[in-house]
Amino acid sequence: MSEVDTHCPYCALQCGTRLSDEDGVVTVAPTDFPVNQGGLCQKGWTAPTLLSAPDRLRHPLVRGEEVDWDTALDFVATELRRISDVHGPDGIGVFGGGGLTNEKAYLLGKFARLAVGTSQIDYNGRFCMSSAAAAGTAAFGVDRGLPFPVTDLGRADVVMLAGANVSETMPPFVKHLDRADLIVVDPRRSPTAARAALHLQPAPGTDLALALGLLHIAIVDGRCDEDYVRDRTTGFADARRLAMTWWPERVELVTGVPVATQRAAVTMLADARRAYVLTGRGAEQHSKGADTVSAFINLALALGIPGRLGSGFGCLTGQGNGQGGREHGQKADQLPGYRMITDPAAREHVARVWGVSPDSLPGPGRSAYELLDALGTESGPKALLVFGSNPVVSAPHAARITDRLSALDLLVVADLVPSETARRADVVLPVTQWAEEEGTMTNLEGRVLRRKRLRMPPAGVRSDLEILHGLAVRLGAPAAGYPTAPREVFEELRHASAGGKADYSGITYERLDAGEALHWPCPRPDHPGTPRLFLDRFAHPDGRARFVPVDHRDAAELPGPDYPYHATTGRVLAHYQSGAQTRRVDELNEAAPEPFVEVHPDTAARSGLRDRELAVVSSVRGSTVARVRLVATLRQDTVFLPFHFPGAGRANLITNTALDPRSRMPEFKVCAVRLEPLAES
Ligand code: SF4
Repeated sequence: MSEVDTHCPYCALQCGTRLSDEDGVVTVAPTDFPVNQGGLCQKGWTAPTLLSAPDRLRHPLVRGEEVDWDTALDFVATELRRISDVHGPDGIGVFGGGGLTNEKAYLLGKFARLAVGTSQIDYNGRFCMSSAAAAGTAAFGVDRGLPFPVTDLGRADVVMLAGANVSETMPPFVKHLDRADLIVVDPRRSPTAARAALHLQPAPGTDLALALGLLHIAIVDGRCDEDYVRDRTTGFADARRLAMTWWPERVELVTGVPVATQRAAVTMLADARRAYVLTGRGAEQHSKGADTVSAFINLALALGIPGRLGSGFGCLTGQGNGQGGREHGQKADQLPGYRMITDPAAREHVARVWGVSPDSLPGPGRSAYELLDALGTESGPKALLVFGSNPVVSAPHAARITDRLSALDLLVVADLVPSETARRADVVLPVTQWAEEEGTMTNLEGRVLRRKRLRMPPAGVRSDLEILHGLAVRLGAPAAGYPTAPREVFEELRHASAGGKADYSGITYERLDAGEALHWPCPRPDHPGTPRLFLDRFAHPDGRARFVPVDHRDAAELPGPDYPYHATTGRVLAHYQSGAQTRRVDELNEAAPEPFVEVHPDTAARSGLRDRELAVVSSVRGSTVARVRLVATLRQDTVFLPFHFPGAGRANLITNTALDPRSRMPEFKVCAVRLEPLAES
């Protein structure tokens, strides 16, 4: 029997697991790792099923034909060279993922910018964490989802969760909230909201007005921490001025949250000795998501919460390596170490590590949706390489993006199963998965973790690093610049990140394997890492946090006569993101087998819908089909759909592509829809 201690393949909690392989049968058990303390959710318990998925990809495919690896990589390289010769290097796009290990994310960024020479690289984390990142950087000078360990929450008196349904997305996290009174902001009475001491149920797209209103009450009721505001922040006057225009009755009118409930939330937060404010995708995935997070940060700053031992502000990262994935250069505007690609000093540092001229580094390029939307157009990429992403299901206005993918000269997808995107690819490259590979991941609290191999991958499968090496060499890049051993890539990443905001230079595989808990920044081999940021100073040059003045604005699309309801989307317990993995696990499919739409009974009656029958949910962009679930606790003006399902049940067939001007995040969380029963055929 072989055993290995590693981490769950799914979300950013990265629960600790022990995998055992006895005669080819793999079992999993939780370890006493701090974030999960012996717990796992049903996704984690069933993860070994992925290793024997019946449709696991085991051979490269070129236009549907099984070929050997040399044939596949030669074909891709030849096509990339041809397209680059005709259209220039920006004729090639690269699309990464927030589930890739740090090593893969790093090498993918280097491959795109050096071996291909394209500026056109972004990743699906743009759909996930970009609003939180923009707001966190603006306020605190650095973006680390949680600037404190998850276990700190265990001593909290009050925790506000704005747009986060942790009872379903990361159940073991909830045990850290046992002691706290919860304030949950969510248009749905989600399982998390159901256990809250206080549930604020704003209309979708109005969280920003709500956060402004809470700050208004804190100011007027004299609940702000004036010493903290004076000593540790700048910019309060402008934020205060805007909040003063959001008096409670106006906020109630816009959000639907009663004045008394607003006051109760402020009182709970201000009275707590230890308080935390945490945001999730519900607050962030809007065309004003960054401003919404800024508004919650402003509230937290006014109450003196961030950067205090026992209290704090954070954003709950979603994807498995959603934190590390945004630090190492697969984002359109970033270089490794969380450096901005427009910063001359950052370019110079990374160019030196890579042995090239800073002038040769292309970028910034298009953000994720803009990149996908430009595919196959006159000025857009003609080829796309996709690693660890399934945009046919996960991108907004999914039918449009599917059309754009079809317009490409060349679509290459590296994946472990035939995802909906892989099925449309000209070339499919089968890759290793979590229990078959080594590497590092960075969890939602900025702790770097070792992913360890339990068993060798099936014959015919290669790692993403081997694929990048094979393509880079064929494109004329030096082989030594694209190591295939994760440890070697990590050594280079350490140098590339040195001196950056996310400084990994003091972290080594040896230290991680010895069990050290290392949170970045960790700038020296003898540095203990930084589990808690901001206790003495924030990361701006003057050490102060910034209030960012923001004002409310409407969602990009409001209900009207033709589309009278808000639709909002989210996740369910049994599935993870686009479902490419979890829909292949029988137990999870039995728990959540098909798309559904939650509808208030009165809304259903008005629309002619009946419980358990099929409905067509339509926005101006398209329609999706889902089974009706009557939910009496939902707002009457709102329906909810999970986004994990493929085909005609894709929730993203209806979602809005309006982008946040600060983060380029699409407005996944609200669009206007109408409801109809599915006509019998
Ligand atoms: Fe833990 Fe997330 Fe895996 Fe569930 S999906 S076991 S919460 S890491």
